[in-house]
Amino acid sequence: MSKITRREFALIAAGASAAAAASDLIRPAYGAGPAKIVIVGGGPGGASVASRLKAADASLDVTLIEPKDKYTTCFYSNLYIGGFRSFKSITHDYEGVKKRGITVISDTATAIDTTAKTVTLARGSAPLNYDRLVVAPGIDLKFETIEGYSPEAAKIMPHAWQGGEQTWLLKEKLLALPDGGLIVMAAPPNPYRCPPGPYERACMIGHFLLTKKPKAKLIIFDPKKTFSKQAIFEEAFNEYYKDVIEINLTNEIDDFAVVKVNAQTGEVTTKSGRSERAALANIIPAQKAGAIAAKAGLTEGDWSPVNPDNFTSTKAKDVYVLGDAAIAADMPKSAFSAVSQAGVVAADIIADLSSKPRTPGKYRNTCWSMLAPDNSAKIGGDYLPGKKDGKGFLEVKDPFISKPGESADLRRQTYQESADWYQTLVANLFGEEPQKADP
Ligand SMILES: Cc1cc2nc3c(=O)[nH]c(=O)nc-3n(C[C@H](O)[C@H](O)[C@H](O)COP(=O)(O)OP(=O)(O)OC[C@H]3O[C@@H](n4cnc5c(N)ncnc54)[C@H](O)[C@@H]3O)c2cc1C
Repeated sequence: MSKITRREFALIAAGASAAAAASDLIRPAYGAGPAKIVIVGGGPGGASVASRLKAADASLDVTLIEPKDKYTTCFYSNLYIGGFRSFKSITHDYEGVKKRGITVISDTATAIDTTAKTVTLARGSAPLNYDRLVVAPGIDLKFETIEGYSPEAAKIMPHAWQGGEQTWLLKEKLLALPDGGLIVMAAPPNPYRCPPGPYERACMIGHFLLTKKPKAKLIIFDPKKTFSKQAIFEEAFNEYYKDVIEINLTNEIDDFAVVKVNAQTGEVTTKSGRSERAALANIIPAQKAGAIAAKAGLTEGDWSPVNPDNFTSTKAKDVYVLGDAAIAADMPKSAFSAVSQAGVVAADIIADLSSKPRTPGKYRNTCWSMLAPDNSAKIGGDYLPGKKDGKGFLEVKDPFISKPGESADLRRQTYQESADWYQTLVANLFGEEPQKADP
């Protein structure tokens, strides 16, 4: 049996895992003191990198910057809208993250200097230095793409595409909807967060209307001609929601992109000139990377280009961008994708800091959507780094998708899979005990 050194013993006794101790001993490249990793954004991308780094090497100095004290997941928020989850069950704090030895700063990163390697915070404390920076700010909304839409208008016509107050507001407005009221949803153009999300939301609103307000109706205006898991959703719309959902996809004659809204009157107007007066409008506009990414010079157009091998930014050294903010096509923007990318980013940081070989990542995604009680469908696959038109991209391997006409048993099983995924994910991200599924 090999003898453990005094230093290894001290690390293990201090609570570090044997793996962490081992990795700590093989990183002469760090120089003096522990390496400083600063992470901007405490969603699934950022929180997952933080926890994985600490689990791999407890001696790393890991700081997570996130303005919200509580994170409401967009994933599973449609189930809250449908009445299958409570708001509390999709809202999580950072106490468990802190217990892992991660420094959580409740603040907003307002500037990043990628030359000086510093991050400035809103509340004006001294800028934070970093050895490696991870930027995971999620999305911002392009309000300006729809005339009359703005952060103010979103208080009346919620998008509910960022978790928290907006999610709650959409549900409150749904509860207050008069029976017989009209809901209008504007679906977003590609690329956007959670490709099946608007259609899962339509099913959940459909379920809510059938059970609570059967005379009300949902009209969807969509700027796209096709959408994710379309055959499955169309089957569900026909089977369950024929009387309450009308979906208008853009076609050769009509462009159903919503171009104008009036928050005072409830009017929603499409490019083809169709106008509806909504009692409740759910306007989901075009999207872009969270503002700090552009401010730091990490974007090209709306999103942040990255090397698909490891999600290092192509715009700045020692910086990673992951999750929804990154250009990860053909990988969809999902929490599952963000967490998969986080595993690769954490491994790459450790390898880089330890001067070990950095191997290209392998990724995975699955997106589940709830169609009706105990009835969910899924789409997913593995993703490998490749090149398309001279640019890096992630090529799907072994894709899978639920099929129309599947048995009730299989759909129940798929629902259960998604519920298990959610509970395991939030336990891993936020260090919580698994939540109760009941609303
Ligand atoms: C209705 C809906 C349903 C969905 N369902 C699913 C699903 O079933 N499965 C799935 O996998 N995905 C789903 N998604 C997608 C999923 O929510 C996102 O892909 C995921 O949250 C992206 O994670 P992220 O860490 O990149 O960004 P986010 O989750 O947005 O986290 C980013 C964090 O960064 C913080 N931040 C932003 N700017 C700054 C700054 N300057 N300084 C500090 N912090 C900052 C924000 O406050 C935020 O907490 C759904 C999305 C929606 C809208």
